[in-house]
Amino acid sequence: MTDRYIVGECPRCKTPIIADGRYKSKTCPKCFSRVAIEELKVFQTAHDSREARTILSKLKAVRGGLDPT
Ligand SMILES: [Zn+2]
Repeated sequence: MTDRYIVGECPRCKTPIIADGRYKSKTCPKCFSRVAIEELKVFQTAHDSREARTILSKLKAVRGGLDPT
């Protein structure tokens, strides 16, 4: 089974984002740039959105708890 969600990093603002692998691009919630999925720096993949969020929060914690919101 292929993982559907991709946890990656926006190549412009370096914000960790979750992308749905069914789509070809994702709009970054921070800098609003349209990022092609293949341009994402992929950290990890996840098979559901809950797992993807867990990975994302760990990623943010590693970076010093910075939250873009
Ligand atoms: Zn961005």
